[in-house]
Amino acid sequence: MASTWNGGINDRKLKEEICEIGRRVYNKGFAAANDGNISIRVGENEVLCSPTMICKGFMTPDDICAVDMQGGQIAGKRKRTSEILLHLEIMRQRPDVKAVVHCHPPHATAFAVAREPIPQCILPEIEVFMGEVPLAPYETPGGSAFAETVTPFLKSTNTIILTNHGTVSFGKTLEEAYWKTEILDAYCRILILTKQLGKPVAYLDERKSRELLDLKKKLGFDDPRFHVEDCDLCSNSAFRQGYKEKMPVTTAFDAPPSFPGYLQKPTYETQSAKAAAPATNSTPDVEALVQAITAQVLAALGS
Ligand SMILES: [Zn+2]
Repeated sequence: MASTWNGGINDRKLKEEICEIGRRVYNKGFAAANDGNISIRVGENEVLCSPTMICKGFMTPDDICAVDMQGGQIAGKRKRTSEILLHLEIMRQRPDVKAVVHCHPPHATAFAVAREPIPQCILPEIEVFMGEVPLAPYETPGGSAFAETVTPFLKSTNTIILTNHGTVSFGKTLEEAYWKTEILDAYCRILILTKQLGKPVAYLDERKSRELLDLKKKLGFDDPRFHVEDCDLCSNSAFRQGYKEKMPVTTAFDAPPSFPGYLQKPTYETQSAKAAAPATNSTPDVEALVQAITAQVLAALGS
């Protein structure tokens, strides 16, 4: 049974890994003073985690604590982080998750404070490596009510924004969990810089957006848009079932273009083949006719 898990609560290498990720989090400015917390699951009922009231940039392996899956401390000289219940909730709901990073990266947290959805269909790497980032509702940090704010969003994402608080990202390894935060914050920084240029963001068109999702599928990455019927590719609607109150609405950026769901049109190739068929057909279908007329009207208006 124990052989299915790497390491254990005394694994020095994993403790060092937590310290190393702590340094990166601190050096990137993702956690001021004693902010942020990091964890790795090392057994069915054992998790290594950072302690409370310590700067993540200066931890040593001896500072690292261990808890059980209920949050009870089972090892370590220091007291475990007060936000461990958030990590444990994610690990319970997602058995594939072995590592969690929570911090307050400033650019992503700006979106958390403005309650602004992260726009999609802009940068190719973001579409492939990230996808829609849900905004979990605010709750006072620490308790189980706080931990459960993320529960409705855990399927099909490894990155969640915590409203008026920060971010949490997770994965099979600590490195993978940390990368998600770094990618998200870099993206949010680019979006904020773009906004400062005073020009609207340029969204990718439907063809290019679908190509990226097809590529993502080929690479074996998951995306909530692969599973949700009627979800608009760029409109941050894949997690709509998770929002008990109203969904966050885009206000800082122009509304994204509307491209009907990925599921209904599995690939751009099949869609274009379908659209091309009526052109060689002696009886074109009504949809193609309407499209042709619309294109002519738009051309006429533009000239
Ligand atoms: Zn926090």
